[in-house]
Amino acid sequence: MNYYKMKLDDVYKELDTSKNGLTNEEVSKRLNIYGNNKLSDEKKKSNISKFFSEFNDIMIIILIFSAIISFILSYINKEPFTDSIIIMIVVIINAVMGFVQELKADKSIDALKKMQTTSIKVRRNNKIYVINSEYIVPGDILILEAGDIICADARIINSISLKVDESSLTGESISVEKNNEIIKKDISLFERKNMIYSGTNIVYGKCEAVVCNTGNNTEFGKIASNISKIKDELTPLQRRISDISKFLSIIITIIISMMFIIGLIKGMELKEVIMLSISLAVAAIPEGLPAVITIILSIGMVELAKKKAIVRKMSSVETLGCTEVICSDKTGTITQNKMTVIEVYYDGKIQKVKDIKSDNKLFDIMILNNDSKIGMGDPTEIALIECLNDIIDINKIKNSNNRIDEIPFDSNRKMMSIVNKNKEKIELYTKGSFDSIINLCSYIYEDGKVIKLTEKKKKELIKIENNEANKAYRILAYAYKELNDNKISEDNLIFIGMTAMIDLPREGVKESINICKEAHIKPIMITGDSLYTARAIAKDIGILENDEDAISGIEIDKMTFDELKNNVEKYSVYARVSPTNKLDIVNAFKENGKLVAMTGDGVNDAPALKSANIGVGMGIAGTEVSKNVSDIVLADDSFSSIVTAVKEGRRIFDNIRNAIVYLLTGNITEILVVFIGMLFGIEIFLPIQLLYINLITDSLPAIALAFEKESSDIMSRGIRKHNQSFFTQFLLSKMFSSALLKTVSILLIYVINLQLYNQNVATTMAFLTLVLQEMIFAISCRNLKETILNKNLLKNKHMNRSLILLIIVQFIVFLTPIKDIFNIVPLNIYQVIYCISFVIIIFIIDELTKGVISRLFKD
Ligand code: ATP
Repeated sequence: MNYYKMKLDDVYKELDTSKNGLTNEEVSKRLNIYGNNKLSDEKKKSNISKFFSEFNDIMIIILIFSAIISFILSYINKEPFTDSIIIMIVVIINAVMGFVQELKADKSIDALKKMQTTSIKVRRNNKIYVINSEYIVPGDILILEAGDIICADARIINSISLKVDESSLTGESISVEKNNEIIKKDISLFERKNMIYSGTNIVYGKCEAVVCNTGNNTEFGKIASNISKIKDELTPLQRRISDISKFLSIIITIIISMMFIIGLIKGMELKEVIMLSISLAVAAIPEGLPAVITIILSIGMVELAKKKAIVRKMSSVETLGCTEVICSDKTGTITQNKMTVIEVYYDGKIQKVKDIKSDNKLFDIMILNNDSKIGMGDPTEIALIECLNDIIDINKIKNSNNRIDEIPFDSNRKMMSIVNKNKEKIELYTKGSFDSIINLCSYIYEDGKVIKLTEKKKKELIKIENNEANKAYRILAYAYKELNDNKISEDNLIFIGMTAMIDLPREGVKESINICKEAHIKPIMITGDSLYTARAIAKDIGILENDEDAISGIEIDKMTFDELKNNVEKYSVYARVSPTNKLDIVNAFKENGKLVAMTGDGVNDAPALKSANIGVGMGIAGTEVSKNVSDIVLADDSFSSIVTAVKEGRRIFDNIRNAIVYLLTGNITEILVVFIGMLFGIEIFLPIQLLYINLITDSLPAIALAFEKESSDIMSRGIRKHNQSFFTQFLLSKMFSSALLKTVSILLIYVINLQLYNQNVATTMAFLTLVLQEMIFAISCRNLKETILNKNLLKNKHMNRSLILLIIVQFIVFLTPIKDIFNIVPLNIYQVIYCISFVIIIFIIDELTKGVISRLFKD
């Protein structure tokens, strides 16, 4: 259907709708016919294929291969198939555990995705609603403004200065002007100026449009269904870990081949050599590591969402903790965005609103050059109406005037104008920041008449404005002029007055600023508001100490990028900035090697949000476009939530580090024990025992480490550089020292008890020691630097539960007939106490060395 060539009435007829919108019944009917307004999801993987994809891992394949070899050898030697069966059981248990965890992670990520819906304004039953864009149907009337993402293909009904960014559809980055004129001839999609398309967004102006197509029927849907969806990207850490795993696999393969040859030269039996090689393979590869990291990250995302930071990109969970600079908007993020008019400058003096005679032009402009509707809209404009509510009949003024044209508000211009027509005349009403208005004025209204605005008077006004702004008030200025025609020309205006409104800081912001400072994070205020207002508020909350550390956009404009780069760290307040200034500030910090988090709400903020290392969108006041390009979106728009998220990011990273140290230390211990044993021609651990440790004993506590609370110094210690190598000197030393301690103890237990008893008892005792060590080492890994001997050992509930579960499992493995599978022989109480004492002694030594290692080695 060529809607662009039809008259509007015909479009309404065709879509069976009107400019008042559809009725609710009609909407439900259409939802049934056309379905929800979204692109049909890529076919979801079935649970069965998800389960089988758990086996799609090189190590698991090696294990299955080992099971097959072991099966064949047992068959040839006419022995029971115990080993091969057990390897397969362990592989299956591992797959089931991985599958369950993956389902859980998927569920939480799905829930997070549901939080990220796009809202849109529609007219239905002649009333305006804000709804989830999924419920838009053909025939709906959309009410759109700058910053909105267009969610369906629609024909424009009316528009004001409309510009649309269609780059997602056309690749063309320059925005296109649109209007409602009918087009007569056949033209291509991209030339249809009276149509707007799904997936594009409004950059400027506003419009109303009637929806023609939704979901897969939109032009975007047609293209999108042809291109396969972007795969979920791995985070940098996940990539690094998978590289490490691959690297380890190669090293291990080489070692195994060498051991294989040594074994054969030493005259060991082929089956024995094969089983030893399998042991080494199983011991060395951190099978659970990639899965554990993914699980910890997704648990982290859920925790962040609970703390009001909704993560849109998993990699930002990792980088959040490295934040060095937080550039924050003022209005709404640092302040409450609840404005109240305190004073008004009118007729030559500052007065209270109620003291001014109600019939005046200033009030007319405040009411008419205002887009808010009964408490809905921009808080600045709501405040202007609210302060007049009890003084004049607002509806009467609105009804006797008509807006016939306008230039909408834009944060670049920092002002807006309307053309107002009433019975007497046509006038231009302008309101905006003081600096933008005063420069357009040639006259001033004072003492009931319009007089020339002299330089002297201008200076006087500037002084008054500065004084008011110094009280932390947000100042708006107002001007007007009579027009001879309908054309807007914003010059030679008559200055009529100013309003001063207060917007108090949000609760907890002062404390959050202090936390930032303690955490070596530089908090920076970037605002469109005036230098004086910004300074006053920044001082009050502790961002600014000296007036010289605040700078305005005009000064930035005068600097070259290199000058800005060299000075950017000096300033804490950037006032009267334009969106381009914001982008330059982010880039200057980045060029200085700083990791920057930047907040933004407007459509013009999108480039800065994209460029920042962590773009922070605003869930309440943010435009859809700004949210769409952000890495995280704050559900409550609050500065404090950014700080909480940074803290949470640090905690998550710490826990990932702890889990990696925990798992890799286990692997290193096993390799050392197996390797040293092999050199002496002894098999201390069976492959089955190592598999049991790696896949069962180790994996639950590793995940439980994700729930560890933050350490006491989390916000006071230095910031980790995001590009620094993961394995610091400290981390490597910690892993090797703990692994060495564990190895020595196991070897000692084995050798001593081999002398005292026999091989079976010695192996069982060594195995029991390793199992207990792994369990107690999980507790130790809750904090790698501080001893947990003087802390509450039982604080992590998840850890306690997993350890209790493991203790029960150990009882079953050691005391029931299952023990035969693991070649376990019964131990007497003294032998058990012997192992436990050894484990405790090693644990205490390990705890005591923590402090020494953290002091000796750089982290
Ligand atoms: P922040 O960047 O911290 O959110 P802000 O709200 O002051 O601060 P903008 O929304 O870009 O930033 O506004 C810039 C300036 O434009 C304001 O300081 C004010 O002087 C003026 N202004 C804001 N809203 C309006 C409006 N609705 N009409 C006219 N002028 C406005």
